[in-house]
Amino acid sequence: MNDGRPTPDDNRGTMYCIGRNYAAHAAEMGASIPTDPIVFIKPPAAYCASGSVIALPSFSHDVHHEVELVVVIGRDVDEIEEGQAWSVVAGVGVGIDLTARDVQAHAKRNGEPWATAKSWRHSAPMSDIVPIDNVGIGPWELRLTVNGELRQHGSTSMMERSVPRLISYLASVFSLRAGDVIFTGTPEGVGPVRRGDVVEAWLSDLAHLSVSFT
Ligand code: MG
Repeated sequence: MNDGRPTPDDNRGTMYCIGRNYAAHAAEMGASIPTDPIVFIKPPAAYCASGSVIALPSFSHDVHHEVELVVVIGRDVDEIEEGQAWSVVAGVGVGIDLTARDVQAHAKRNGEPWATAKSWRHSAPMSDIVPIDNVGIGPWELRLTVNGELRQHGSTSMMERSVPRLISYLASVFSLRAGDVIFTGTPEGVGPVRRGDVVEAWLSDLAHLSVSFT
């Protein structure tokens, strides 16, 4: 049955990413939970699939992993109540919000945008997407390893703002389109990746992502 929702092979649309959505990660960044969500955007070219070999950008010496629940939107929506928001979700998976931390720190100091730090080519690797009808609405476990060593381990139950709340907010500000993706924020434990590293991520036992770096 094809109800118009995107399949795992469809191109990704705009990727909306949420900053500081877990208190312990905000704390490790020396920051607090903001009153309104912190939102930044990655373009479609930031997407890459599991199995990719990702070229670290030449303009950074400190790229960090941030494991996140990713939500793929299944139909266009301009306004939606939180109570209805799961109905526009096509599926969920696990993604890594790769971040050039040194570039981001420079941008923060100077009051500049985060685009270069966050939105470079292949900075948004994602697993295959699991259809939402198969998995319920969580909560789910997030895990990330670097070369087999556990670096991040959290639960989506610790999110400061829930998936429905984020969908309702993003739809009201931007409108959401089928194929758009929400990166919902990272738990604590972010850290560097280096050339030759193999990074794996899991959403419970539902979705798995493996990428390497060159
Ligand atoms: Mg992030």
